[in-house]
Amino acid sequence: MYGKATNLFQFKLYPLRFTEFDFHPGLLEGIDASGYETATPVQEQVIPAILAGRDIIASAQTGTGKTAAFLLPMIHRILSNHTDGQVGSLIIVPTRELAIQISQHLEGLSYFTNISSIAIYGGNDGQSFVNEKKALQMGADIIVCTPGRMIAHINMNYVNMKGLQFLVLDEADRMLDMGFQEDIARITDALPQERQTLLFSATMPDKIRQLARKILKNPVEVNIAISKPPEKIVQKAFVVFEEQKLPLVKQVLTTTPYRTALIFCSRKQNVKQLARTLQQSKFDVQEMHSDLEQSQREDIMNGFTSGRVPVLIATDILSRGIDIDTIDLVINYDVPHDGEDYVHRIGRTARAEADGVAYTFIGEKEQNKFAEIETLLGKSVDKAPVPAELGPVPPYQPRTRGGRSGGNGPRRNFTPKRR
Ligand code: AMP
Repeated sequence: MYGKATNLFQFKLYPLRFTEFDFHPGLLEGIDASGYETATPVQEQVIPAILAGRDIIASAQTGTGKTAAFLLPMIHRILSNHTDGQVGSLIIVPTRELAIQISQHLEGLSYFTNISSIAIYGGNDGQSFVNEKKALQMGADIIVCTPGRMIAHINMNYVNMKGLQFLVLDEADRMLDMGFQEDIARITDALPQERQTLLFSATMPDKIRQLARKILKNPVEVNIAISKPPEKIVQKAFVVFEEQKLPLVKQVLTTTPYRTALIFCSRKQNVKQLARTLQQSKFDVQEMHSDLEQSQREDIMNGFTSGRVPVLIATDILSRGIDIDTIDLVINYDVPHDGEDYVHRIGRTARAEADGVAYTFIGEKEQNKFAEIETLLGKSVDKAPVPAELGPVPPYQPRTRGGRSGGNGPRRNFTPKRR
C-alpha cells in the first residue's frame, strides 16, 4: 500500500498520496482543488480494487471519505472509457439530501474534466423531471438518484441503461431500513448484468449480506471499523472564533504542563504560519510538513524524540504511526478531516504507560465537521471553558446531517484554574 513511502526511522510517515494513483490529470486537479492530499484508509483500500475492475462490499460510515473512495476511481474509469449517449454510472442513495451532497461532491472533484452528471430525486418541479428524462434518454456520465424517483422514470419505459458501467448503492442499510428493497430490485433488473457494482453500508446486517449475494460478483470486502481512542486520553474541545485560536494556543502552551506537545494543522500553509507566529512570540516550536527536505525532517524528528524540540507543529503527515512516549499534549489547531484522522492524531499521546491530553479547537466553520466526528466516536467530547480574557465565544450549534441543530445555547466563558 505504501508503495513510494519512505520511512523515517521506524515511523511510517506517509499515507498514500493521490499523486501516486495514475489518475487522469483533470481529476488530479479536482482532487487538489478540493484540498485532498492523502487517501483516507477506506480510500486506500477501495480505490485500487475499483480501478482493478472488482465489485466491492464496504462497511464504512459517513466521515471516513467513502464518497470520494468510489467517485474518484469511477470518474477516472469513465474518463478513460467514455461512451457518448449512455448513462455510465448510477449511484442510488436513500435521501434527497444525500443525493444533493454527493452530486456537489462530484461536481467539485470532476470540475476540471468533461464529466456530465445529474441528481435525480423527488419533490422538485416539472422542469426538473423533463431534464431528468432527457438525461436518462440521451445519456449522462454519472447519475445520482433516490430509488422512488428512479422507479417513476423506469415506469415510463424510456430509461436507457445499456451502456452502464457502474452501479453504486450508498448507505445500503439505510435504504433497506426505509423499505426500498423492492425498488432496488426493480432498478437492478433494468441494468445490464455486465457491470461493476459497489455496495457501501455503515452496518452489515444479514439482509445486506443477502442483497450483496444477489447483486455482487466475487466482491472485495472492505471493513473500515472506526477505531476508538484509548480511554486514558483526556479529550477536550474549545469552541472558539477562528481569531481566538492563536491566543488560546499560547495560553494552553503556557499553562498546561507537558514534556513534549504536538500541534496539528490540516494544511501545511497553516503549519508554516503558526510556527512563524509562535516563534516570533518566543515559543520554542518547530514545524514538520512535506515541503521540508528529508535531512531537515530527520533533524527535527530527532530533536522532537529527544525532547530538544519541545513543541512540534505538523500536518497529518505525523498523525499516524509515530510512537513517542513523551508526547503528553496533542492540540488539534483545526478540526481534522474525519473521525479516523481524529483518532490517529490524538492517539499520538498517552502512549505506553503515559497519560495524555488532547485538545481540539473548533472554529465557527468547523462545528459540523466536529459533530460528525463525535457521531463517529459515539460520544460527545467535553467542551472546555475558554479563558475569559479571550472574550465571548460562539455557541456550539452544529447542524447534523439531518439538518437539525445540536446547539447547547449561548455559552459563557470563565477563567480556568491553572494546573
Ligand atoms: P464522506 O465520508 O464521504 O462523507 O467524507 C467526509 C469528509 O471528508 C468530506 O467532507 C470530504 O470532502 C472529506 N474527504 C474525503 N476524502 C478526503 C481526503 N482524502 N482528504 C481530505 N478530506 C477528505
